[in-house]
Amino acid sequence: MNKQDITSIKQLLSTKKKIVIVPHKNPDGDAIGSTLGLYHYLLKGLHQVQVIVPNDYPHFLKWIPGNDSILKHDSQTKACNALINDADIIFTLDFNAFHRTGNMETVLTESSALKIMIDHHQAPDDYAKYTFSDVSMSSTCEMVYHFIDMLGDADLVDSAIATCLYVGIMTDTGSFRFRSTTSKTHAIVAKLIEKGANNNEIHNNVYDTNSYERLQLLGCALTNLRVIPESKAAYITLSQDELQKYDYKKGDTEGVVNYGLSLNGIVLAAIFIEDRKEGIIKISLRSKGNFSVNEMSRAHFEGGGHTNAAGGKSYLSIEKTVEKFISILPTYNKALNNE
Ligand code: 5GP
Ligand code: MN
Repeated sequence: MNKQDITSIKQLLSTKKKIVIVPHKNPDGDAIGSTLGLYHYLLKGLHQVQVIVPNDYPHFLKWIPGNDSILKHDSQTKACNALINDADIIFTLDFNAFHRTGNMETVLTESSALKIMIDHHQAPDDYAKYTFSDVSMSSTCEMVYHFIDMLGDADLVDSAIATCLYVGIMTDTGSFRFRSTTSKTHAIVAKLIEKGANNNEIHNNVYDTNSYERLQLLGCALTNLRVIPESKAAYITLSQDELQKYDYKKGDTEGVVNYGLSLNGIVLAAIFIEDRKEGIIKISLRSKGNFSVNEMSRAHFEGGGHTNAAGGKSYLSIEKTVEKFISILPTYNKALNNE
């Protein structure tokens, strides 16, 4: 996104517009934080603004300012499609290919609204009139701050915007510890706290709302943890029966994959979660150093993401998916053992 783009967007937003903001399916903290942060900012311009998410998201994100205004495409399809078809501008946040929105793909592809992408994933598609794509960014929330700043409106960041953006930076950086966390990230976080983001409260709201069952599920996941020392890899499985036994709720498996990566010497961690309703095994991959799970997921699991965090899926059984994972590991042994 160059200076000319910013000038054009400023011009575009100088008159009242009908705006829709969309994140990816199964939205996480960065997806909800960035869409709502941008929502509060755009409302200051007196636009008509609507956040539409493809489907539901975890309870620990439902306190974020503006949460009650969000529409869910899967349960309010007609109303959402009408808003999308009528929109002047659609912002697409925290994803860069329409298929990442699940069932919203068609309506977004067919919409004639001007698209603006703000995203930090690799290999963006070319659907947007204005593309703000930067894989070096910690989070889309950090990029939304830069976007507001580039438009000359950093002064408009209030406690609602600051709170939303803090959530996504915190969750996507694993509380400021992943490699993507830079001094610039911390400088922005400092500004967000100054503007009214209550860091202690936000952390408690997101991370300290575990149910007893969720901790039991974590216990089950850790019991299922396996290590493949020659590949410096670890993996966890969770079957549908295990999820049901511990009363699984959306978001309960968030972050569990990182336990594999916390093992001394482990470079690659995976979690395989059975989803019988969707007929898939949902896969999350995490890595340390330069080992790219984005490439691994693109090559073998129909997914993608970032160098150190990617997702994907498999249509095989959970056992066969694990077999496939183990069978491809030797081709990566050299890279894994170089880390
Ligand atoms: P997670 O494992 O937490 O679901 O996702 C890790 C990262 O990979 C996130 O940034 C997420 O947006 C991305 N990701 C997850 N699943 C997919 C997928 O199926 N395709 C692509 N391209 N990216 C994914
Ligand atoms: Mn993100």
